[in-house]
Amino acid sequence: MGILVLGTVALDTVQTPFGKRDALLGGSASHFSMSARLFTDVSLVAVIGKDFPDKHIAFLKNKGIDLTSLAKESGDTFRWQGEYSGDLNTAKTLDTHLGVLATFRPQLTAAQRRFKNVFLANVDPDIQNYLLASMRNSTIVGLDSMNFWIHTKRKSLLRALKKVDIFVANDQEARDLTGQTNLIKAAKSLRSYGPRIVLIKKGEHGVFLQADSCTLLLPAYPTDTVVDPTGAGDTFAGGFMGYLARAGKVNAATLKKAICYGTIAASFNVEGFGLEKTSALARNDLEKRLRVFKRHISI
Ligand code: AMP
Repeated sequence: MGILVLGTVALDTVQTPFGKRDALLGGSASHFSMSARLFTDVSLVAVIGKDFPDKHIAFLKNKGIDLTSLAKESGDTFRWQGEYSGDLNTAKTLDTHLGVLATFRPQLTAAQRRFKNVFLANVDPDIQNYLLASMRNSTIVGLDSMNFWIHTKRKSLLRALKKVDIFVANDQEARDLTGQTNLIKAAKSLRSYGPRIVLIKKGEHGVFLQADSCTLLLPAYPTDTVVDPTGAGDTFAGGFMGYLARAGKVNAATLKKAICYGTIAASFNVEGFGLEKTSALARNDLEKRLRVFKRHISI
């Protein structure tokens, strides 16, 4: 039990048709942790700069996240600025400021190196590879990335993909990485790069999972309150991987449940800015919404 997540802890500035927020607590590891914590203990590996507000550290600690390997270095915290318009499915990145991320090399404790469940959330693939090299005997390793890294560090990303079990991508990332426009073909290509399980997320249109044991398709939970989708993918991954870590095994049945939990967790994320909604969640909120969801999808 327990999951180690490597990723970004960021200060996000986000503009959606519902408003603008400056320097919100965000980042792939923060969003992932907020849903994974509902299933298992989460140990977070990331870097922040001198400008990172203490209140955000207190907030993450208060949610039960282990911050032993949240390094603080001199320099600026990673900052991301994005904008959404139209159907809110795709973020337009306005600015990415790497700050302390540019030189970060994660240092793990001996206990962290022995974690069985690991998630390499969206971050520089060189850092993902560095962390992978420090791990001993992990059994389930997942990885997420994004266009920024696909375009700037493709070789390094392909190297990391060879060593992981699960790859989580959105439809555009899957197309960019493989050159395939058809998502079924893209999933096949991605599996040939290494991961035995590939998930392709399609925003409000749901998710598609391809593994040896099964192919699964699931629509998104139909919410009419989409305020800010930032972190929806990471929140999905947190619910998905958190559940698998708790279940302790990967098979068709656990994968099916895991994509349901990921989908439900992500549906809460989009209903508020930043971590507003997911930080207030208890496991029972997921269970309640899952019961409603099951009624919608029963055929
Ligand atoms: P998502 O909406 O699931 O793709 O995740 C958005 C989160 O990823 C935001 O909180 C950002 O801080 C973070 N993010 C944006 N760009 C990057 C990047 N190049 N590397 C790592 N994290 C990023």
